[in-house]
Amino acid sequence: MEKREQLYEGKAKKVFKTDDEELYIVSYKDDATAFNGLKKGTIVGKGVVNNRLSNHFMRLLEKVGVPTHYVEELNDRETLVKKVTIVPLEVIVRNIAAGSLSKRLGLPEGTPMKMPVIEYCYKDDDLGDPMVNEYHIFAMDICTKEELDIIAGYALRVNAFLLDYLKDKQIELVDFKIEFGRTTDGTIILADEISPDTCRFWDSTTHEKLDKDRFRRDLGGVEDAYAEVMRRLLGE
Ligand code: ADP
Ligand code: UDP
Repeated sequence: MEKREQLYEGKAKKVFKTDDEELYIVSYKDDATAFNGLKKGTIVGKGVVNNRLSNHFMRLLEKVGVPTHYVEELNDRETLVKKVTIVPLEVIVRNIAAGSLSKRLGLPEGTPMKMPVIEYCYKDDDLGDPMVNEYHIFAMDICTKEELDIIAGYALRVNAFLLDYLKDKQIELVDFKIEFGRTTDGTIILADEISPDTCRFWDSTTHEKLDKDRFRRDLGGVEDAYAEVMRRLLGE
């Protein structure tokens, strides 16, 4: 597989074309941002952890019936993926109150939700990714009702699988964000990444944060937390 021109450089990853029209290469960076790009920094080794963990999760999710963009891990930082047109929604699933939900609804961080909560944010950096509901999504033609049903079904399946899988590794899955895309033939698949950048992971016993909140909130030990998640999930 030959890497061709760079299509896009985002906050955490670069996306390249390849000699196959249907495939892209994503390259994970150590750059970290928070608060819609206001806070910037580096988390040494993050690109490697996120690439390897995201691929690990996607391989497992394929086995439980969630189609993903994952094709092949090329090296520590780069992965071959199916090209998609991203549905411009951040699909958030929450099991325990934290972050923006805690603020918005006055629920202390750590409050268990009686059932998983799905939220959608419209992916638009200039607008700060505002939350939208089904009415906004259909009225703005972000995706169809049929597509959203598929997306929500997959999001809940990702949640159910990861909750269970992570529990065994002494990790509580507090919440996470995923993105979906349409392949050339219009099929909805899971894209982007699943990593400590996009999930809240808490140690099951100590409730210590093992994710990007350590960077967002200047808690220290950011690199160690990412390495610890990798150790628990990949044994290294
Ligand atoms: P951001 O754009 O928020 O800064 P990243 O740095 O992670 O985020 O950039 C990666 C970009 O690539 C994101 O916009 C994401 O939606 C997009 N993307 C992820 N997977 C695919 C894919 N399989 N095909 C096309 N675009 C993708
Ligand atoms: N999230 C993300 N990218 C974003 C916003 C949120 O990956 O642009 C993830 C975040 O890591 C957390 C979940 O989505 O796991 C819910 O985040 P929340 O809405 O609480 O936002 P935050 O506290 O990050 O403002």
